[in-house]
Amino acid sequence: MSIKENLEKILKVIPQNTNLIAVSKTKPIEDILEAYQAGQRVFGENKALELAEKQTLLPKDIHWHFIGHLQTNKVKYIAAFVHLIQSVDSVKLLSVINKEAAKNNRIIDCLLQFYIATEESKFGFDYDEASALLSSKAFLEMKNIRIVGVMGMATYTTNDKLIHQEFAQLKSYFDKLKSTFFSNQDYFKEISMGMSDDYKIAIDEGSTMIRIGSSIFGERNYKSL
Ligand SMILES: *Cc1c(COP(=O)(O)O)cnc(C)c1O
Repeated sequence: MSIKENLEKILKVIPQNTNLIAVSKTKPIEDILEAYQAGQRVFGENKALELAEKQTLLPKDIHWHFIGHLQTNKVKYIAAFVHLIQSVDSVKLLSVINKEAAKNNRIIDCLLQFYIATEESKFGFDYDEASALLSSKAFLEMKNIRIVGVMGMATYTTNDKLIHQEFAQLKSYFDKLKSTFFSNQDYFKEISMGMSDDYKIAIDEGSTMIRIGSSIFGERNYKSL
């Protein structure tokens, strides 16, 4: 199936208010353009330099989301244009994003990434850490970032029950943060969860943003990195 057909197939089964992020990491410009020509405007990348290069080569009305672990010294490559940084996993990173956003006279939207999986390797906050951050004076002084929601990745497993539990956990974190810190902020509304293998479960559990790579563009060839 073509990229266009893959996109149409996914768009047909997801609710209208669920945002589809096309994850184009490792994929060439031509593939992204094919998705663009099919109407897709939101793309996700997980390497700052790769994203910065693609951004210069592709149409300027694309909304670029950063979705991977972001090193603080790489924020400067994407701060001028990135639409949403989904993967804020430390206070240090948030403060660097704030600084780079200020240099560009921008307010950068961010999601707090939560650690919900049982795997050791996944980055993110736990609830108490996020709560401490949002209560801190340092956070209140960050005028060039805006937290618009949460993001998480479930364990890579065929155990659907576990995936349901992990996404439900993220939704409960979102609800608690919303009522504690953002009850009057309409912009705090995003729950980014769900990838090619688990997006249907994520939607059942309240996802507002799904991040789909291989089901749109085909398997990735990591060796080409
Ligand atoms: C690669 C990646 C995705 C997309 O994964 P697929 O399984 O190819 O859909 C989604 N989210 C993050 C954070 C990723 O790194």
